[in-house]
Amino acid sequence: GYRSRAAYKLKQLDELEGVISRGDTVVDLGAAPGGWLQVAAETVGPEGKVIGVDLQRIDDLEDHDNVETIRGDMTEDRTRERVIDAAGGEVDAVVSDMAPNMSGEYSLDQARSLHLARQAFETALELLDAGGDFVVKVFEGPDVDDFRAEVEEEFQYVRATSPKASRDESSEIYFIGKGRITAPVRPGD
Ligand code: SAM
Repeated sequence: GYRSRAAYKLKQLDELEGVISRGDTVVDLGAAPGGWLQVAAETVGPEGKVIGVDLQRIDDLEDHDNVETIRGDMTEDRTRERVIDAAGGEVDAVVSDMAPNMSGEYSLDQARSLHLARQAFETALELLDAGGDFVVKVFEGPDVDDFRAEVEEEFQYVRATSPKASRDESSEIYFIGKGRITAPVRPGD
């Protein structure tokens, strides 16, 4: 079984837009307890690699030796550096299910969610190969349209969706950026 109901959301997102393929290298941000990691590890198979990052500890995925986990805060540069090192090159998909601790005040939680989504986007731009895909969760609210427009500039197209598995948390949407347009700039290029 899966560690979280969230696993089914990634399955639905992947069925919709085909973001993860066999042999891919995938970076999963906000990965605890590990449902998305399980789905991604199954999909990429033994030739692929999945790197999961979270503030929380992620228990070992005994059934999958193609998964590496990092405990850290994605808003900190040093965590992003560790992720880049672990990826060891360009990646095929960056997926983020990061969400803030809920304060109960929607406007605050929404602003924090958007901040995490922007961090995920920056990380995606550092890591993704040309043609790579990006999935990010964000709570509906102010500035989300602007964020979507920024993502649209970097991908062939962006699709917004609320997976059935998350309809009870009606404020969350996922953007799927398909096909990164440019390759990352590396030192020396
Ligand atoms: N996709 C996961 C799964 O399938 O099990 C569920 C993810 S849960 C909805 C959101 C996660 O985002 C939490 O585990 C939380 O610790 C993590 N998170 C929130 N802020 C973060 C940050 N700044 N850096 C890393 N992870 C963060």
